[in-house]
Amino acid sequence: MAEPPVQIKNTFAAVRDHARQFSDFTFVYPVISRRSRGLSIGVNLNPDKLCNFDCIYCEVDRKIPGKTSRVDLNRMRDELVALIHFARGGGLAKEPKFAELPPALTRTIKDIAFSGDGEPTMVANFAACVQAVADVRRAEGLSETKIVLITDAAGLDKADVRRGLEIMDANNGEVWGKLDAGTEAYFQLVNRTNVRFDRILKNLLETARARPIVIQSLFLKVHGQPMPPEELAAYCDRLNEIVRAGGRIKEVHAYTIARPTPEAFATKLSTSELNTIAETIRRKTGLAVPAFD
Ligand code: SF4
Repeated sequence: MAEPPVQIKNTFAAVRDHARQFSDFTFVYPVISRRSRGLSIGVNLNPDKLCNFDCIYCEVDRKIPGKTSRVDLNRMRDELVALIHFARGGGLAKEPKFAELPPALTRTIKDIAFSGDGEPTMVANFAACVQAVADVRRAEGLSETKIVLITDAAGLDKADVRRGLEIMDANNGEVWGKLDAGTEAYFQLVNRTNVRFDRILKNLLETARARPIVIQSLFLKVHGQPMPPEELAAYCDRLNEIVRAGGRIKEVHAYTIARPTPEAFATKLSTSELNTIAETIRRKTGLAVPAFD
């Protein structure tokens, strides 16, 4: 009989603490991610904290300067191999942060995720980074492990990034593209960027035409107010437009703030507020919308 799935509670220390620092590593770190449904090995391509968004809910503390401005591929590869061996050998299960988890959860690597302290597609050698991870994944026999790109979608139209996405496609890849708004005004309010909203929408559409993608959307309160109903309706319209134009959306991850933010006016939704939003999205789009409070 199949084992029942392990419930990943948001009270677990390893779920609440997504520190991107492990041992003396620069690029690679482990997290237990509910959205990944288990152990995710993060690959931080931006220890320099570079990002083209300035989200009001971003947990990256940019008052403390970043560490390095280029990805050392050999070092990244070595760290990734070391952490894979450590996790599969049961080492993570003995770390205090992971000790309360069922051991199986810390041995099975659900995904290797480009994520971290900035926007991964801003590195100059994104495709080479993807290739390095794909090579390690294959050499380690991790055929069930996904390669995930967690992105704000602004750079998905760059030629080198498109090459990287094609490598991901051939290696169980999945793109998680951010969409936090339905209008340019709310997009600017929440994501604060000089990238235009229509470019984000075009990039999500083109990417979703080439392979199914996951949309990741953070919902929050801004000055005490959840996303207004007309904004949520516009957001659902944007999703429907992507699907009508031939984009494939595998699911929408609806989540809220989990860790301290730089802006005191950006605050977390309650579980019921988030669930109500997720239900509205399901009703208006017909898409699968898991909610993570
Ligand atoms: S896109 Fe991500 S890293 Fe960039 S500001 Fe927003 S939350 Fe922070």
